[in-house]
Amino acid sequence: MDGGRAAGRHGPAGTDRPGVRRGWPWAGIPTLGAVTLPLRPELAGLQPYGAPQLDVPVLLNVNENPYPPAEDVVADIAADVAAAARGLNRYPDRDFLALREDLAAYLLKESGVALTPDQVWAANGSNEVMLHVMQAFGGPGRTALSFAPTYSMYPEYARDTGTGWVQGRREPDFTLHPATAAATITDLGPSVVLLASPNNPTGTALPLGTIEAVLGAAGDVHGGCVVVVDEAYGEFRRAGTPSALEILGDHPNLAVSRTMSKAFGLAGARIGYLAAAPALVDALRIVRLPYHLSGVTQAVARAALKHSVALMAQVGSLRAERDSTVDWLRSHGFTVAESDANFVLFGMFDDRHAVWQGLLDRGVLIREVGPPGWLRVSVGTPEEMAAFRAALLEVTR
Ligand SMILES: *Cc1c(COP(=O)(O)O)cnc(C)c1O
Repeated sequence: MDGGRAAGRHGPAGTDRPGVRRGWPWAGIPTLGAVTLPLRPELAGLQPYGAPQLDVPVLLNVNENPYPPAEDVVADIAADVAAAARGLNRYPDRDFLALREDLAAYLLKESGVALTPDQVWAANGSNEVMLHVMQAFGGPGRTALSFAPTYSMYPEYARDTGTGWVQGRREPDFTLHPATAAATITDLGPSVVLLASPNNPTGTALPLGTIEAVLGAAGDVHGGCVVVVDEAYGEFRRAGTPSALEILGDHPNLAVSRTMSKAFGLAGARIGYLAAAPALVDALRIVRLPYHLSGVTQAVARAALKHSVALMAQVGSLRAERDSTVDWLRSHGFTVAESDANFVLFGMFDDRHAVWQGLLDRGVLIREVGPPGWLRVSVGTPEEMAAFRAALLEVTR
């Protein structure tokens, strides 16, 4: 849930200062006047998650697609939302089979893997899809496992569903050693394993062999174990990097999650989805709130999916911009993690905060995230990347 920025512009005054986590001033304070609220102890003192939402010219901090939807996409969305609006007195299609069919057709085009609509699930962002997974398969007395450094939302899904949380380690180059991962699963017996591939914030994609090793160990866990491969950045993978969708048919406990927030350029629409065996999808249907996906959301998603071919062409140019950013950073002496995503993790800096601040002072917002010494930059337009390069040279000269 790398947040969008529109809300920040209209948010309460004074919450958008650099380095200040956004949130209402009273967030985290469990008392209101003399009344004590029964806040769960594990939530006491916590702030809502979110990247700083600052109003600066060059926004390269939350891995969005830098290109707004094209005018023909906007026109189709507007027309289909108008049609949906005429039926808003009724609850929407609870099972959104038409959208699930469209998502399956998209995945066939994108990954060459044929799925039926009952193998597809969707929700308000892949964040909500993950919450459904944790509600169905996690919970008190159970454990979820991931391998750090990885997406900072995973421990929050575990916390919010009362699921135990264990963080294994990736190798120094951010890959995952298949035998180490399998041994961790065997020792721990988790109910859920979350693997981001390409990983955020490192950009690392996992080979199918590693995912198969994890699935092998998960298959032996007493009581069962679901493996979620989070492919939020799947469309940006380099040629020759496979999708875990390719092995879905062999693994009833595998789920592959995707989103329209990143490559598809629809972060503001909040549509995430997941592909898995029908029995796994049926389990998610039990925990979803009724009508969780509004008629408007369904209309927006289906209208945008009609334009997937044009979108895939644009993703190609973002991939090329990513690769040239990696090359440029390396040629200037920076250390760069291999990336199959639309962002690049680079370093190493003794004082990364000073570099982040120096870029911000020059109107370029990137993300201070990942292990100490590293920074993450999202891939923007060629003009935005030129501004980033110029600012970085000035700051690190
Ligand atoms: C951005 C991101 C998501 C997408 O979240 P949405 O709720 O679909 O916007 C999921 N997983 C990872 C690792 C991400 O970085």
